[in-house]
Amino acid sequence: MAKLLEGKPLAEKIKEEIRKEVSTLEKKPVLASIQVGENAPAEAYVKSQRKTAENLGIEYQLHRLNQETTETELIQFVQELNSDKAVNGIIIQLPLPSQIDYKKISQFILPEKDVEGMHPANMGKITFGKAKILPCTPAAVMELLKETQVDLYGKEVVVVGHSEIVGKPLSLLLLDKFATVTVCHIGTSKAGKLEEHVRKAEVLIVAVGKAGLIKGEWIKAGAIVIDVGINRVADKIVGDVEFEAAEKRASYITPVPGGVGPLTVTMLMRNLVEAAKLQQ
Ligand code: NDP
Repeated sequence: MAKLLEGKPLAEKIKEEIRKEVSTLEKKPVLASIQVGENAPAEAYVKSQRKTAENLGIEYQLHRLNQETTETELIQFVQELNSDKAVNGIIIQLPLPSQIDYKKISQFILPEKDVEGMHPANMGKITFGKAKILPCTPAAVMELLKETQVDLYGKEVVVVGHSEIVGKPLSLLLLDKFATVTVCHIGTSKAGKLEEHVRKAEVLIVAVGKAGLIKGEWIKAGAIVIDVGINRVADKIVGDVEFEAAEKRASYITPVPGGVGPLTVTMLMRNLVEAAKLQQ
């Protein structure tokens, strides 16, 4: 039976380190959050981010812009925050109204204030193994792997999903640890080869968003399984891996919810402190 890799206790441990770092800074770090219009998911993220930030000694500034804000107006606002020396990090809350393209706007955040690690300059640094600010979800996955004490050198690691925010940057971080990385995606599934790859995985990371995509019986005995997926099925939140069957074969497995999720906001705060240090 697998050990549960829970995100909450690990997040608490990392938060303690962040608190210590914050106490060594000359001034309280400031996170500026932009919310355009009103919607329930963004309200919930903002509330939870504010709580985490304040608890760590970080100042959380919320800037609410109206629903009709244009891309040009939002870019101008981002640029004002870029030149505000008091602001260390900027985050744009999703979802955005339909007239705004997040990908376009997020590139206007200065790389040193891009605490989500999504600016092309920060993504590019991952290739060179020099990134100080990492995208939050891949960083959370790496922390969970560290917790298992697995030596990734030469390990067969399979990543399912090749999105820009999870699969692609994560595969580079794993390569940097000398893992043998296989990245599977929709093409792998359509070619009927997903099972074959998953069965080989000593470490399996799944970030797709399809409940039950990975069958429990495919899991290699003793594998480490990190399930990033979040799916709502009949009023329950589940991952992409068939948990009950996979748990019987894996050595470690993340629960969903309660695995990767609780760590991502912690990674955001860690990036903010890193950004503040780089700026000082
Ligand atoms: P995307 O939709 O951007 O990416 C999904 C990936 O899965 C794509 O690479 C897609 O390939 C691939 N894919 C789709 N269908 C299949 C299939 N049948 N077989 C193999 N690969 C497939 O999602 P994200 O990366 O943003 O998120 C993935 C999941 O992780 C979601 O459930 C999301 O909610 C969750 N998530 C959880 C977070 C957390 O904090 N726990 C944070 C971020 C995401 P292609 O694009 O080629 O179709």
